This record gives sequence, C-alpha cells and structure tokens, in this order.
Amino acid sequence: MIDLFATRPEFSKLGQQMHSLITELYPICRSITGNGVRQTLEIIGKEIPLIRHEVPTGTRVFDWTVPREWNINDAWVENSRGERIIDFRKNNLHVLNYSIPVDKTVDLAELKEHLFTLPEHPDWIPYRTSYYRENWGFCLSHNQMAALPEDRYRVFIDSTLSDGSLSYGEYLVPGETEEEVLLSCHICHPSLCNDNLSGIALMTQLARLLTGEKLRYSYRFLFIPGTIGSITWLARNEAQARRIKHGLVVVCVGDSGPFTYKKSRRGDAVIDRAVQHILSHERDRFELIEFYPYGYDERQYCSPGFNLPVGSLSRSSHGCYPEYHTSADNPELVKPQYLAESLEIYLQVIDLLENDRVYLNQNPKCEPQLGKRGLYRSVGATAIDDFDEMSLLWVLNLTDGKHSLLDIAERSNTPFKKIKAAAGALLAAGLLNHE
Ligand code: ZN
Repeated sequence: MIDLFATRPEFSKLGQQMHSLITELYPICRSITGNGVRQTLEIIGKEIPLIRHEVPTGTRVFDWTVPREWNINDAWVENSRGERIIDFRKNNLHVLNYSIPVDKTVDLAELKEHLFTLPEHPDWIPYRTSYYRENWGFCLSHNQMAALPEDRYRVFIDSTLSDGSLSYGEYLVPGETEEEVLLSCHICHPSLCNDNLSGIALMTQLARLLTGEKLRYSYRFLFIPGTIGSITWLARNEAQARRIKHGLVVVCVGDSGPFTYKKSRRGDAVIDRAVQHILSHERDRFELIEFYPYGYDERQYCSPGFNLPVGSLSRSSHGCYPEYHTSADNPELVKPQYLAESLEIYLQVIDLLENDRVYLNQNPKCEPQLGKRGLYRSVGATAIDDFDEMSLLWVLNLTDGKHSLLDIAERSNTPFKKIKAAAGALLAAGLLNHE
C-alpha cells in the first residue's frame, strides 16, 4: 500500500508557504505570452525542476495559431495638468491585457470608449483582455470613471506585440508505470489570486510532496496559459495524452467557498468517483457539477477528440464568486488555511488513485477465520486511519477480481482509507493477493 500521508505533512505550514508564493507572484503582469509568464515559471522553477518550453509565434496548433508575444513596460493616463490619473505601475489590472501601443491625446468621450469598469462593484477594477482583437484600453473603478471631468487626456501604453513565443512549464514526477495523472493550471492572469495563483501554488506544493515518493502513476504537472496553452500542449503531445488515466484542472483553491467538483465529460470516470467519494466523507458541504463546455482547460482536455478523464476540483467555481476577475481577487481573499485544506483534499484524492487496485481473496469459500489470525475483535474503529471488522468483511466479500477498492468503498459506504487499511491488513495476513 502506498501511504502519501506517512511523512505527516504539516498542512498549516504548507498553507503559509503557498500563500507566500502567491504574494511573491502577485505583482507580476502575466498574460498568455510574454516575460511575465517566463518570470512566473522561473520563480516556480526555484521550487521544482520545471522544464520551460517556448513555442514560436505562428505555430499551428489544431485550429489555432500561437499568437504574437505581448510585453508591456508602462501604461498611464494623464489629465491636462499632467497628473497621472491611471497608472499601470500601481495595479497591472489597469491596462487592458494585450493592449497595442498607443500615445495620443483624446477628449473624455473618446477616452470612455476605451475604459472598462464594473458598475456592480463600483470600487473594484475589472480584469479585461483582448487577445485576438487588436485594441487598447484601461480598466478602472466605476467610481473613478464617473468622476472624470471633461478634459484632454494623454493616453500612453508602452507595449509590444511582436513575433516571439508562447511559454509553458512542465514537470514529470515518474512513477512505476507510464500511465499518467495530469495536473494542470493556468498561469496567464496578472494580479489575480484565487483564479490563477492559488492553483499555481497548490500544484507547486503537490509536486514537491510527490517528488521522491514511490508512486504507481507518473504525475505530469502543466503550468500553461489558459486555452491556447492546453491546445498547444495537446497538439504537441497527442500520442502522450493517451497515457493520461486521471486528471484534474487545479483552479480557485484558496478562497473560503465550499469544495466544488466539476466532473469530466465522461461523468463516470474513476477521477469523478474518487473526488466525489473523498468529498462526501471529508466535508459536510460540497458541490458537484456536471461537465459543461466552458470554464478552464478541461474544455480542451475533454474535447471530443481527446475526451480525457479530466475534471476540475476547486473551492468557489469559475465565475461564481463576486471577486472573480476583479482587483478584489487579491492576497486577502485567499487564506493559508483554505489553501492547506485544498492541498490535503488533493493529496487524499491522489492517495486514493494510487491505492485503488483490484485484489483477489485467497480464501473465497466461506469467510476465513479472522480470529486465529488476530484480525477479529482485536481492532477498534476509533483511530481515523484504522479499520473495523465490517471493512474487513466487505473487502473479503468483494475482492472477487471484479471490484477495485474504490468499488468496495462506494458499495459499503465506508471511507476509502478504512477499506485501504483493511485490505493492507488482509494482504499482510496472506488473505489477499494482487490480481
Ligand atoms: Zn480567469
């Protein structure tokens, strides 16, 4: 049996570390391409040995083309007195992501055509992008825009949009088999914490925890720009993708929301059952969502030509919390405690996947006599990692070569870890064997 909790990870300390990484990455202006992404990958690369890939502009990836690379040095709006009223250096959400360069003076009406606000939350700055349509613009609070007087405004964006490359990071933790578990997060959002940075921080910690463990599956960690990144990876690794047996898109794992699991397109994949099982035994409240073709990179992994068993495990889900895609998705929204809880749930799911095997009862004709093997009435069911007699009986009854340990846990409505512990004891007693 594989026990990923054997080293007793100190989750509260790991929660602090994840939050520190988020705080370090927060000020960087990321996009789907450019130096902000590279800088981000470099920082992650200090924690885990990430391989960085660069895919040139113009590369065809299925129906898409790798876009020109965007970089930005500065952006601001000044009024006629030379006062800087919007400043990218104060918050990188102020600039429309992928803005083309501009330097001109405009009146208020023309300026407003290029301003984006959020009237429902008039103090917050929205996050807006224009990747595939050339445009320039600024994002600001609705209150600030409403107070702008008639004036002549100088708008200045020092950006470049030119041939370069798309960057992404990849790290493989090898296991006993070439069958893979995919963990994927997007790295293309600028100063946004729950949507983007929490996933990066959790995946980085998870990769560190799994490194050096004796594992059954190989674990592929992808740090990619949203949509174009997963399309690019799939286009370059079409054959490789067939090795993916289970996968999760890691997003929005740092806020206080209840856990939410969005199922894979298949709906009944082992990963779907595994996450549902862990959440139902570990949390009083959680949400299950059927697959829908929107959201994050699961859209690409679950496109019909791949149909990979990839779901998405988050706290609040895509677009369903007020701070989503605004300046309020900041380091205060995500908390070490929530990150730590999320990491622990992820590790439990992985521990389940690692141990979900089919065993064969070596004494299938009537129950074996457990008492003479010291297994009956000798164990209590109080310790959380322990098992009870019912677990032993369920495992013995269903290890007929047709049921995996997850099947048994589901059918007996028993937490997987108890079933696993019971199977471990029966293996040690010679009453079970590998299929
Ligand atoms: Zn987003």
